[in-house]
Amino acid sequence: MKITAIKGMSDILPPESSVWRGVEEKVRQIFDSFGFEEIRTPIVEPTELFVRSVGETSAIVEKEMYTFEDKKGVSLTLRPEGTAPVVRAYIENGLQAKYPVAKLCYFGPMFRYEQPQKGRSRQFFQIGAELLGAESPMADAEMLILLKNIFSGLGIEDVRFEINSLGCAVCRPKYLEAIHGFMKGKEKKFCDDCQKRAKKNPLRILDCKKEPCRELTEAVSTISDFWCEACRKHYREVRGLLLAGHVPFKENTRIVRGLDYYCRTAFEVLCDRLGAQNAVAAGGRYDGLVKDLGGPDIPGVGFAIGMERLTLLAPLIHDSRPTIHEPMFFALLGSEAEQAALSVIQELREKSLRVESAYGGSLKSQLRRADKLKAKWVVILGENEVKKGVAIVKNMHDGKQNEILMGRLVGELSK
Ligand code: ATP
Ligand code: MG
Repeated sequence: MKITAIKGMSDILPPESSVWRGVEEKVRQIFDSFGFEEIRTPIVEPTELFVRSVGETSAIVEKEMYTFEDKKGVSLTLRPEGTAPVVRAYIENGLQAKYPVAKLCYFGPMFRYEQPQKGRSRQFFQIGAELLGAESPMADAEMLILLKNIFSGLGIEDVRFEINSLGCAVCRPKYLEAIHGFMKGKEKKFCDDCQKRAKKNPLRILDCKKEPCRELTEAVSTISDFWCEACRKHYREVRGLLLAGHVPFKENTRIVRGLDYYCRTAFEVLCDRLGAQNAVAAGGRYDGLVKDLGGPDIPGVGFAIGMERLTLLAPLIHDSRPTIHEPMFFALLGSEAEQAALSVIQELREKSLRVESAYGGSLKSQLRRADKLKAKWVVILGENEVKKGVAIVKNMHDGKQNEILMGRLVGELSK
């Protein structure tokens, strides 16, 4: 029986993988310019990490996690997102001592048991960044400027930035009360999920994707009416910095984010070209998270970009290494020719040139492959050439060919 990949998890094949590599290279350059360094955390974490950070009533923890027991009965979870693992690693390794401001980025797969559809899969890749140790609005603004640089660096100009402030521990409870009050008597009209959310995290009702709930919540008062003075000031400064940093944004008081740990600034980056799943990146501030996970009281702000959606928007980006596109091809007839060619091939590859060799077959079929690989130079070695100590070098663009002494081959080809 044929074995297939797991539903919602797909292979990234060439040439698409070249787009992925090109995008990652570009993003890495931009991270470098902002001083972000890479962190690589395990793909599996204790389940408790996500329950405590992402939140018990979040869609992720309620129904989307890949959770299983290891051989000792310990509950493990394939990471559904990247922030909690980074914060766990930050606390565990005492990074705050080494970096008063830690700027960390990551690249990797995430896992959520969702209904697979366009732009939504069960294994998906994220590029993320976390800035820990800065409370200032400058940090929030820089994360958004970083995002903007990433999109424009990839030639994507048609994304929209939407921002909101979710308030803080001082002012948000009052807003939650207001939502409670609003729902009173109408509970039955909301979906089952929202009825549950009403008890544990009413803010999330604003994030419900079901049409009846969306309509009902149109009338609920907006969070902006409840911000405390400190949150107002923070948000005002963020907006001022975004203007100064040339990040065009729109305020959207309905952005709440699906994860429990956000406070103050929350944002999404949207693109109409994506269709129904139109968010390509999202993030925000999470000042209580490090403390909640047992660390010191250190603020943080971060974002995650969905790689599948990002590569859909940036298909013109490719792996930019020039040598990769014009290989040299060694057409080799017989095992003596193969042996004679190997050291030359090795030397050329050590000069970072791309060299392709034949794996048997007729000269005709080998040349056909060279053509397909778009090789400009083909080196032909048969029994006669080996005896004479030469190789035939053919320019595939103009069809001209020359005999060259084996000893001079590397020099000639690496010109
Ligand atoms: P959505 O509203 O699309 O479900 P989300 O709020 O769950 O997104 P986040 O957890 O903030 O998303 O993740 C950030 C980004 O990761 C999203 O903007 C999206 O680009 C990408 N992403 C999230 N879930 C998936 C998925 N199941 N498949 C592919 N990409 C995803
Ligand atoms: Mg989601």
